[in-house]
Amino acid sequence: MATTTLPETEMEVSTSRKNDVKYVYFFGGGKADGNGKMKDVLGGKGAGLAEMTNAALPVPPGFTIQTEACREYMRQNSVSKEVDRQMDEALKQLEQLQGQQLGKGENPLLVSVRSGAKFSMPGMMDTILNLGLNDQSVEALAKRADARFAYDSYRRLIQMFGNVVLEIEKSEFEEVFDAKKKQRKAKLDTDLDAKALKDVIEEYKKVVKKHAKRDFPQDPHEQLVMARDAVFRSWQNDRAKHYRRINNIDDMLGTAVNVQAMVFGNLGETSGTGVGFTRNPAIGTKEFYGEFLLNAQGEDVVSGVRTPVHILELEKIMPAVYNQLRDITTRLEKHYKDMQDFEFTIQDGKLYMLQTRNGKRTGLAAVRVALQMVDEGLITKEEAIFRVEPNQLYDFLVPRLAVGQIVFTADEAVEKAGLGKKASVILVRAETTPEDIHGMEVAAGILTSRGGMTSHAAVVTRGMGKCCVAGAGDIEVNEKSREMRVKGQVFKAGDWISLDGTTGRVIKGQLNTLPPSPDDKELQTFMKWVDPFRKLKVRANADIPRDAIQARAFGAEGIGLCRTEHMFFAEDRIPHMQAMILANNEKDRRTALKKLLPMQRADFAGVFKAMDGYAVTIRTLDPPLHEFLPRREDLMVDIAVLPYADAKQKKSMVEKYKRFGAKGAADLKKVIPTLLRRVEELHEFNPMLGHRGCRLGITYPEITEMQARAIFEAAVTVSKQGVKVYPEVMIPLTATLKEMANQGAIVHRVAAEVFKEKEHKVDYLVGTMIELPRAALVADEIAKEAQFFSFGTNDLTQTTFGFSRDDVNKILPTYLNEGILKQDPFAALDQEGVGQLVEMATERGRKTRPDLKVGICGEHGGEPSSVEFCHRVGLNYVSCSPFRVLTARLAAAQAAAAEQLKVEGGRTK
Ligand code: PEP
Ligand code: MG
Repeated sequence: MATTTLPETEMEVSTSRKNDVKYVYFFGGGKADGNGKMKDVLGGKGAGLAEMTNAALPVPPGFTIQTEACREYMRQNSVSKEVDRQMDEALKQLEQLQGQQLGKGENPLLVSVRSGAKFSMPGMMDTILNLGLNDQSVEALAKRADARFAYDSYRRLIQMFGNVVLEIEKSEFEEVFDAKKKQRKAKLDTDLDAKALKDVIEEYKKVVKKHAKRDFPQDPHEQLVMARDAVFRSWQNDRAKHYRRINNIDDMLGTAVNVQAMVFGNLGETSGTGVGFTRNPAIGTKEFYGEFLLNAQGEDVVSGVRTPVHILELEKIMPAVYNQLRDITTRLEKHYKDMQDFEFTIQDGKLYMLQTRNGKRTGLAAVRVALQMVDEGLITKEEAIFRVEPNQLYDFLVPRLAVGQIVFTADEAVEKAGLGKKASVILVRAETTPEDIHGMEVAAGILTSRGGMTSHAAVVTRGMGKCCVAGAGDIEVNEKSREMRVKGQVFKAGDWISLDGTTGRVIKGQLNTLPPSPDDKELQTFMKWVDPFRKLKVRANADIPRDAIQARAFGAEGIGLCRTEHMFFAEDRIPHMQAMILANNEKDRRTALKKLLPMQRADFAGVFKAMDGYAVTIRTLDPPLHEFLPRREDLMVDIAVLPYADAKQKKSMVEKYKRFGAKGAADLKKVIPTLLRRVEELHEFNPMLGHRGCRLGITYPEITEMQARAIFEAAVTVSKQGVKVYPEVMIPLTATLKEMANQGAIVHRVAAEVFKEKEHKVDYLVGTMIELPRAALVADEIAKEAQFFSFGTNDLTQTTFGFSRDDVNKILPTYLNEGILKQDPFAALDQEGVGQLVEMATERGRKTRPDLKVGICGEHGGEPSSVEFCHRVGLNYVSCSPFRVLTARLAAAQAAAAEQLKVEGGRTK
């Protein structure tokens, strides 16, 4: 969300010539002082009320005290006399218009006092309803309406006022109320009658006297002044401050205060209240959608005490009101050119509109509504592409929810949900490792208590298009006792849970799922409008042919990152990979590599075929080798246990260590300690900064050699079959020109060898990832050898901040809470810091090689604000997981279109 600070000149005028400042804006009687464009001054709600009033809609009249008064309050702890004067004037105008007086007479005027900032901050600030009630006016109201309702309104006012204005703990009032319910054996609040509520009022007054050391103010004007100031103060409460921090809203904006005549939907059977949407916000169909309750207050609709009825029923009960509501909401939609979410109240058969705003909707609905509105001539195609948030397109691709029974190990997942088995399981782990991949593959969803956006679980599941909640801090996973604890509740294997991958929520039990619909016709039409704007190409990160095929289906224009190590995780490959790692000398290593060669070649051929006509970037081996071996601690435990193991245990250990050469129980004594020795040799204190990336290929050149051979043999083979191949071999984690030159030389040599052997050539490039600050600094040097750059912003973020990407979740929540960081830098690119390196390296690289192709393949490649940044700094492409390709396409198009539309005639979104 963008924030704007008021222009300095406006601030100056406001403070230096106070008497000229219009602090209070009236609305009512068919016209308003303000209008819908004045959100800076009137706040969102105030601007909306003014706009609706100007459009001659039935809005309860009132006035808005503008945000400058709040800023004044923040500066000097009170408002100026001029604010008071203008407020009193507006109150008089309101009383005249209504023919009522605030809190006085037979028919007293009651008002609501609500906050309303420029950006909606739902529930963060305070509201006071029924203001104007006191010992006299409550009796007048009781005569006009229902006595129970009148006393209930009064006791609510004392409670709200006591809490918000006089800062008395809510619990003080709740205790009194609960005691009364107990005494009257009342189950529900509504079971208390007028007499009981009268008693509660007396008790509440005592609470006020005791804690605030004063009486509840009987003077309605005093109530109003105190309530207004309390709402201003609520801008500075912890909740509001926190909300602003996480939503990037400027602390200096301040809130407006809306004072509005109360209308009541609970004055009998010709009154009611409801909420609705002009179209269906879940699926986007063009239907009047909503619900209402007769003889009820807004609260009753929300609280679920009574079940509301469908809004279409209103046509039968009050046809005139229904038609008026349809007419108004249709006009509102035309006026705002967007689907509206509205609230209304009917008092004694008269309709009042309380609020209208652009309605929140699902991705499916967003696309459909945008298409409909273009069809109806309400908006242009250019406007339509901004009506969908890029992340909403995710809705079309993955089931939003994963529902299943808990399992705690990958093997258990396979046992229950593997090939041909129907069970749906959620794999719950403290964290996942490559060893869990088989379980992740069959699970409906994955839940981990540790890790973040770029943890193994998050990256792998994103690639799979699977629902994953990674790093759920409230969850304690005990894999040994096979239990998960969440806030005192214990979940065991077999218990049902549901995961919402979009919000990160974990829900007990089984929720209904929605199937994914990537072939949706309307989505296809929408994307056809979107794509022509785009300057950035969108590629996918895909490691195996299946993912590449999927990526093409989502519109990927090539592969920006094929992590070759992921090809080694499959059951039939990991033993050879492990043999290669365990080898003590080059000869043994080459033998193992030879076994891997045909497997890699076949995978590459599959990927090239899927990407016929598009570039495929294949990265040479990157991760530290010990990631492929068993954990050191587990080996130590097995060594300790072995002397005491019975025949059955030994058998299972043989099974476990078979791939490391254990043929029978007798071998275990030698195999496990040998393995431990090698694991210890490979052990590193900082593996992420250790023997990985191009350092592997430099120390073991035969690995790069084998991979280059697999790439070029596959390329030549499929090229001979007529497939258009453009391999791009990418060297990871370089920091110097010489590293690049070393690995580049191997790749070029092997390419030449293969082309000669096969008597067939293909075009190719050799380039590098830029994922270390040093690489960015010497990018001009590296570009002498590298024919393309791809920013590995996962590692670049890690190394620029010095945050471990796998452990950052330990500190991140505090950093976000404290406002030290605004966003997780592993999720949204840190444009200020890491972004500078990206921009600089691109510039320096292109100085050496003007046609240098530059992309990004870290997780940021599919995140909308980062995509916008990549567009701005002139990258050629972004690459992201197949399931984020649509999102990246839309984000890239929006970035380009925003620029273009500003230039062409200044249209804005
Ligand atoms: C990166 O570091 O951004 C990257 C894409 O590589 P990986 O995540 O495999 O380290
Ligand atoms: Mg990396």
